[in-house]
Amino acid sequence: MVKRTAIYPGTFDPITLGHVDIVQRALKLFDKIVVAVTSNPQKKSMFSLKERVSLTRKSFAKFPSVEVDSFDGLLVDYAKKRNCNVILRGLRELSDFEHEFQHAIVNRKLAGSIETVFIMTSAKYFYLNSTVVKEIALLHGKLDCFVPKAVEEALRKKFKK
Ligand code: ADP
Repeated sequence: MVKRTAIYPGTFDPITLGHVDIVQRALKLFDKIVVAVTSNPQKKSMFSLKERVSLTRKSFAKFPSVEVDSFDGLLVDYAKKRNCNVILRGLRELSDFEHEFQHAIVNRKLAGSIETVFIMTSAKYFYLNSTVVKEIALLHGKLDCFVPKAVEEALRKKFKK
């Protein structure tokens, strides 16, 4: 049987329950999801690539169909290397759409055989992003409804009073 695989790329700085929700939804459509952590040269990340991979791996420890990997360089090159022709992205508010639309079109220009699939976030994670989570952590707020347990612990350590 052919396994349907999708690559879910992102900086995941850190991974949130919004990201986990997208993967859970995508598992209804795909047999396997490769969560691919990357460095975004335009964003300074709080957690190192190694830390982001480790936290993402811990967050999906109970998902046998999820693999966590990391990559450098162009996403389409990584997708080709992995022999995968589907990129998965999550959509929240309208501003995501504009940015994601641009990326999907550019990626299609670079590699016509690769399709980008979008999944809508659940209403409860509509407002959630990694920046909001870091701000809450900085101010020592409640984190359990926003991030997986391992991320909560890592954030508490980073922002220890
Ligand atoms: P990037 O820096 O490449 O945008 P992110 O790590 O921020 O990567 O996000 C990876 C993907 O997850 C993106 O498609 C983003 O839109 C999506 N995403 C982030 N937060 C949420 C959320 N709360 N609900 C749904 N999708 C989300």
